[in-house]
Amino acid sequence: MYKDSYRQQGKRQQLVKTIREKGIKDRRVLQAIGKIPRHLFMDSSFEDHAYQDKAFPIAASQTISQPYTVAFQSELLAITPGEHVLEVGTGSGYQTAVLCELGARVYSIERQHELYKKTKKFLDDLGYRPKYLSFGDGYKGLPEYAPFDKIIVTAGAPSLPKSLLGQLKVGGKLVIPLGKDVQIMTEFLRKSPTEFDKTTYGEFRFVPLLKNKS
Ligand code: SAH
Repeated sequence: MYKDSYRQQGKRQQLVKTIREKGIKDRRVLQAIGKIPRHLFMDSSFEDHAYQDKAFPIAASQTISQPYTVAFQSELLAITPGEHVLEVGTGSGYQTAVLCELGARVYSIERQHELYKKTKKFLDDLGYRPKYLSFGDGYKGLPEYAPFDKIIVTAGAPSLPKSLLGQLKVGGKLVIPLGKDVQIMTEFLRKSPTEFDKTTYGEFRFVPLLKNKS
């Protein structure tokens, strides 16, 4: 039903080379990018461009993140197979698929119903089995499934959603782009129930993490 041609596979290996040259070292992350047919996560009109290292529009005025950004966040998360990982912003499901390839038990939240529905079916058709896809507000996290080993936010957060910090295990990590127009990739490591180590990385650009419509 889904086509993954030799040409597309070839372009995908070029993309892996590009993001390796940009500094991604984690072999498992590079393997995941090399395996996942990104063109299938996009609107067919952009299919020819799927293996460029760029973000592209998806439904509901959202974007599929740039592969380098997906790889950068995935590398920071440093996932061990079996870990419970919460993703905020399912979008196209591409990052979700990367997390599945890394062996994570993935819980993901999306606030656009159209994307939630479409991506849920698509990931299933493609054989990716996240533990739980939720239609709801990522600011709140998923307290009923907490605590998580890792949390990744894939939309630009104007301020830090405090509830997400509270849903991390001690020793767990939150990776979140923080800022309004431009975001600084930021990592919070939970040292104890009350202490967090914060580390900042470079600048990135994401669509905004939005407050609920209600
Ligand atoms: N990981 C996705 C990124 C999509 S863009 C991908 O690679 O395709 C960010 C996504 O976050 C969008 O789909 C947007 O609808 C969603 N989003 C924004 N604010 C949100 C919120 N408060 N809760 C859950 N999802 C949110």
